[in-house]
Amino acid sequence: MYAEVIIDQDAKALDKVFEYIVPEELPARVGMRVIVPFGARYIQGFIIALKENCNYDVKKLKPIKSLVEDFSAIKPEMLSLMRFMAEKNHLKLASILRLFLPSEMREGKVKELFVTRYSLNLKADIQLSKSAKKQQEAVEYLKEKTSATSSELCTLFGAGAVKALFEKGYILKEREQVIRSPLSGKQDLKNVKLNVMQEKAISTICENKTYLLHGVTGSGKTEVYMHLIEKELSKGKSAIMLVPEISLTPQIMSNFKARFGEKVALLHSGLSAGERFDEWKRLFSGEATIAIGARSAIFAPLDNVGIIIIDEEHEQSYISESNPRYDTHDIAEFRARFNSCPLLLGSATPSVESYEKAKQGEYILIELPVRANGKEMPKIQIVDMINELRAGNSGIFSSQLVSDLASVINRKKQAMIFINRRGYASFMRCRECGYIAKCSDCDVSLVYHREDNRLKCHYCGKQFKVLEKCPQCGSENIKQGAVGTEKVVQEIKTIFPDVKILRMDNDTTSTKNAHQKILDEFKNTLPCILVGTQMIAKGHDFENVVLVGIVDADQSLYQTDYRSTERTFGLITQVSGRAGRSQEEGKVVLQTYAPRHYVYKFASNYDYKGFFKKEENIREVATFPPFSRIIRVLFADTDENYVRDLLKSCYNNAIKLKEKYPDEIIYMDAMKSPIKRMQNKFRYQILMRVRLAHADEIEKDLFEIVDKASKNSVFFEINPQNLS
Ligand code: ADP
Ligand code: ZN
Ligand code: ZN
Repeated sequence: MYAEVIIDQDAKALDKVFEYIVPEELPARVGMRVIVPFGARYIQGFIIALKENCNYDVKKLKPIKSLVEDFSAIKPEMLSLMRFMAEKNHLKLASILRLFLPSEMREGKVKELFVTRYSLNLKADIQLSKSAKKQQEAVEYLKEKTSATSSELCTLFGAGAVKALFEKGYILKEREQVIRSPLSGKQDLKNVKLNVMQEKAISTICENKTYLLHGVTGSGKTEVYMHLIEKELSKGKSAIMLVPEISLTPQIMSNFKARFGEKVALLHSGLSAGERFDEWKRLFSGEATIAIGARSAIFAPLDNVGIIIIDEEHEQSYISESNPRYDTHDIAEFRARFNSCPLLLGSATPSVESYEKAKQGEYILIELPVRANGKEMPKIQIVDMINELRAGNSGIFSSQLVSDLASVINRKKQAMIFINRRGYASFMRCRECGYIAKCSDCDVSLVYHREDNRLKCHYCGKQFKVLEKCPQCGSENIKQGAVGTEKVVQEIKTIFPDVKILRMDNDTTSTKNAHQKILDEFKNTLPCILVGTQMIAKGHDFENVVLVGIVDADQSLYQTDYRSTERTFGLITQVSGRAGRSQEEGKVVLQTYAPRHYVYKFASNYDYKGFFKKEENIREVATFPPFSRIIRVLFADTDENYVRDLLKSCYNNAIKLKEKYPDEIIYMDAMKSPIKRMQNKFRYQILMRVRLAHADEIEKDLFEIVDKASKNSVFFEINPQNLS
């Protein structure tokens, strides 16, 4: 018997199938990890196939040395997924297989955790001398408790006594596996009666299709997810549910734990290595049947998947931007089709791409248009910050927001102040008229680069001089940059010196459980103001929050890509959804320098459909995705001459694609990347925008050109989230 083996190494040259002889006595199966001789050493690999005949000279083949473990760590479904991803994402096989296992397992660092547990030997006739006091006490203790861990006994009665009892055969030793569980403590189970629309959604979602659940914030989507999962579990199936960032959605987690208990396994980066490994094993063995986690949980080692759910499907975090690059939606689609089960995408603000697919009939649209508790969405008031400036207020807060905050404090309620700093990019803006410097070719905002004091377009690479005067109104009051959370806290303190203010951002949440601590304190403090970044935007359900202030809504609007308007709409909707979730009506104050921008008109009316229509039209006219595909190939190397030459030769070949596909390539250019050097590597890129009809072929041709020329693997990105 012969095995096809993928070597667990990162080099491009090794990214192919190697053949080995399977020794007769070795119980090798497909998907197992093995140790194989390679050159002068032994390394780890994966068996991806077994066969009776080999393709090479048998005399040159070597035998597999041993198995890493006695089970197939890579299940058949995952092998198919590997092939799919290699083709779709142009990835190396080894790097894909690594995604399927907890990294701790690969490195052999983490093992199951065992403790030693003692109990009385009931067959023994226990005779202890009077002087052996500690031993007698230990025996009494065990009589009462039946069993105790070694560390418990040793702490109470001393290691000597425990050892003596064991040696006399009075107590028995047992190894017990400890499951390191990331979520413990009790959770309350909420029992709600589903409304008609929820019921209808649940009965609709049953086929091997993709469903888009468009439900306003608070419409009870989580309840729908839980029922669907319950339905599948009762049929003996398993479920995968993805959430953007677990630490930001503690409530979802505790709801699931309360309902499904030990059936739930968590997979995300916030776990300790041991926790992650144990959770993975529980899913692998079928002990846990619901995998919940961020992006990487889509690779959960579950069999017989009955439903896959992606909550907040529009979130950027579902696209992996570092190597290996992939879009979680594609993987979810693959696994759903493989298991013949529904894929459910849920959001209050679906991505334009997904909604377009629903419109075209590729996805089935389901709507939950009202909040489950019947409450109205909070009113959103748009405040024109340019008017504030003209009126002499150059602070961070409008007079409206200040007076609303004062009222919240008086009524002993709570407010959230949201500062939008996602993908923080600094742009230049005229403080008089709101003018933003934009690229003359691409119609996206320019990014200020401090190191060479230039404005640059992150789409085409074009550079511009820094503005000294506003070309629109002539003012010299031009500012760059954004306000931070700290600054906002400071300013509130000067206005309301006595009110309790909490801050939640990257700086204040770096330690474990810091999120939860801040949220708990917020929950228990009245009145209180919580200042935060997008971390406070979603999921939270605080009944006393009656006001949400959005300090500078425009921040995400002027990021440098075609999705920025869409992202702004989503953020406003999410943050606004935090206000007025119980008795009292909520309100949102939205501060902007561009009050007439269409995104604010639609967002303030919660008009997703209106927004979509407008956005769809703009994208179609400008041929941006979903009406085209953007392809970026990034070359990076420590040797600048090498990358530059590589870029040139690839580009010279790529340019020929224009002849092959004369009408398909809308844009193509080669350039330095906006961030020229990163981690000591020089970065160059080919950027391309192509029509959809032949996008797959062009992508494939381009990949072949680049792959042939490059000694290293190259980064291929499709519709990248940012082009830095
Ligand atoms: P979403 O995820 O759509 O924002 P949630 O699932 O978090 O909404 O639900 C919002 C609130 O409404 C939660 O407190 C939830 O317990 C409650 N809820 C959900 N469904 C119902 C229902 N049918 N009746 C009453 N309350 C409900
Ligand atoms: Zn101006
Ligand atoms: Zn440009």
